[in-house]
Amino acid sequence: MDKLSLRPGLIWGSQLEDVFSYCKECLCALPAVNVIGSSSINAALIAAKEAQAPIIIQFSNGGAHFNAGKLLPNEGQRAAIAGSIAGAYHIAHLAQEYGVPVILHTDHCAKKLLPWVDGLIKAGEDHYKAYGKPLYSSHMLDLSEEPLEENITVCQRYLERLHAIDMFLEMELGVTGGEEDGVDNTEVDSTRLYTQPKEVLQAYTALKEVGRFTVAAAFGNTHGVYKPGNVKLRPIILKNSQNEVYTNIHTDNPRPIHFVFHGGSGSEKEKISEAVSYGVVKFNIDTDTQWAFTRPVREYMDAKHDFLMSQVGNPEGSDKPNKKYIDPRAWLVLAEKGMKNRLIEAYKDLNAYQKFIFRYE
Ligand SMILES: [Zn+2]
Repeated sequence: MDKLSLRPGLIWGSQLEDVFSYCKECLCALPAVNVIGSSSINAALIAAKEAQAPIIIQFSNGGAHFNAGKLLPNEGQRAAIAGSIAGAYHIAHLAQEYGVPVILHTDHCAKKLLPWVDGLIKAGEDHYKAYGKPLYSSHMLDLSEEPLEENITVCQRYLERLHAIDMFLEMELGVTGGEEDGVDNTEVDSTRLYTQPKEVLQAYTALKEVGRFTVAAAFGNTHGVYKPGNVKLRPIILKNSQNEVYTNIHTDNPRPIHFVFHGGSGSEKEKISEAVSYGVVKFNIDTDTQWAFTRPVREYMDAKHDFLMSQVGNPEGSDKPNKKYIDPRAWLVLAEKGMKNRLIEAYKDLNAYQKFIFRYE
């Protein structure tokens, strides 16, 4: 199969559909990495450049607020909206400079956070009117805590607006376990951690009338990394769900659903490949890249401990300046490199490494 060729910058609409379809054909998926500011954004963009594959960059609600400044009040989601918009402009501009295609997305939005996505859709509509393209490629609504009917109806309503500006919706069915961004699902009843194929069929049927979407179906995945054996992944649920849709509504593609794998960190490599073979096109990674970012910083702080105790004076002399050790750039670049390397590993695990061609004309 010929490699899919893409221009640098935002991927959205029918082109995003092409990217996901291509991923399914060549059995690969793209990493979707959570970012919180310019350093993690740099790591994501340089990883995509090295991997010669698009990157999905996403802001969680907390990450978007952090991008605007954690010290800035967030009444009515103002700071999270501003952080998401600023992040989108920042990433779109740098994507051209790095020469990489990017898919921009916002992560879990529970019912109480809907004002955040409402603000972003409004900004996206204005942007679309002015430039003919959306600000983001997709938004996620996570109404998995609500009754199924409500989840689907609200998603339909939002997808109508998103589709009008060539955007995708990501919806969640079943609950991702663990804890992320202040939402604690560690004690959730374990049966709810596995989505029923019938639920997927119901959602697929309702949403496909309206627009383009991806489905985060729970198959035992968990946010965060816990001790081995804690997570029992059953990707077969994804295969059964594809079959359920295919046999009931006779879609052209035997794997009609674009699945999203949440809580990718710490997953066994074979389970990742298996899930990808069942139509996972987006693989969320956060905890592993957080660790890859923080570990080199800790190593630096340990190694340079005696140079970081005061501005002047270190083991080389009581009058020696420590400016170059104190400069945050000295250790943030190590964090960026650590996170970039972890993302390259993810591209390889997901079979997406150098699977694309970047076109610059
Ligand atoms: Zn998630």
